[in-house]
Amino acid sequence: MSYLTNNFKNIKAQIPPQVTLVAVSKTFPVDNITEIYNYGHRIFGENRVQELTTKQPQLPDDIEWHYIGHLQTNKVKFITPFVSMIHGVDSFKLLETINSEAKKVNRKIRCLLQIYIATEETKYGFTVDEVTQMLETININDYQNIEISGVMGMASFSDDENLVRSEFKSLKSCFNILKEKYFCNQDVFKEISMGMSGDYLIAIEEGSTMVRVGSSIFGNRNYKKL
Ligand SMILES: *Cc1c(COP(=O)(O)O)cnc(C)c1O
Repeated sequence: MSYLTNNFKNIKAQIPPQVTLVAVSKTFPVDNITEIYNYGHRIFGENRVQELTTKQPQLPDDIEWHYIGHLQTNKVKFITPFVSMIHGVDSFKLLETINSEAKKVNRKIRCLLQIYIATEETKYGFTVDEVTQMLETININDYQNIEISGVMGMASFSDDENLVRSEFKSLKSCFNILKEKYFCNQDVFKEISMGMSGDYLIAIEEGSTMVRVGSSIFGNRNYKKL
């Protein structure tokens, strides 16, 4: 068994069956993805539009692609023909654009509302107030080509486990508030995407339903190679 497959197997063994593992393959070549694919995994995550649209046609059609990064509205149309979930919906304009582009290709795309939970200031996302305000003003039934499936967040990049844990707790409580107020009749609103290589075990303890793990499977990324 290759070291990649072995890494994958070890991570998978730590994750409860009800938690979805998104294997984050950004910066890694299609050969690496194929190895994990051949082992039986189908869910992969990428965070650059151009990289994703280059890799996707080279790989099997039954891969479930998750777009996990910041997405510019003018690039939405390049991924709507095939992407199954978009994790980082951080504005109303982006939500509307995904819906209208998905309509053009007659698809329904699952979306997660990105919530700002970190203490760091550079991260994207809605505050709880902003997301509440948006959901107060729109009628989700007007958006037939998206399925708002839950929330996504990124904790601070920190060794302070208590800080990271409290940020995950705040995402979980945001999920609960939104579920109760706006999505109590929507079974599809069920996902809490939180946890990466450094913190996925904490995230799972705090209620994550989806973890996005890259470097612990594929190794350290070398951005310069791209
Ligand atoms: C890169 C990335 C990940 C995976 O990070 P690792 O630390 O390599 O596991 C998860 N989520 C997002 C949004 C990312 O951009």
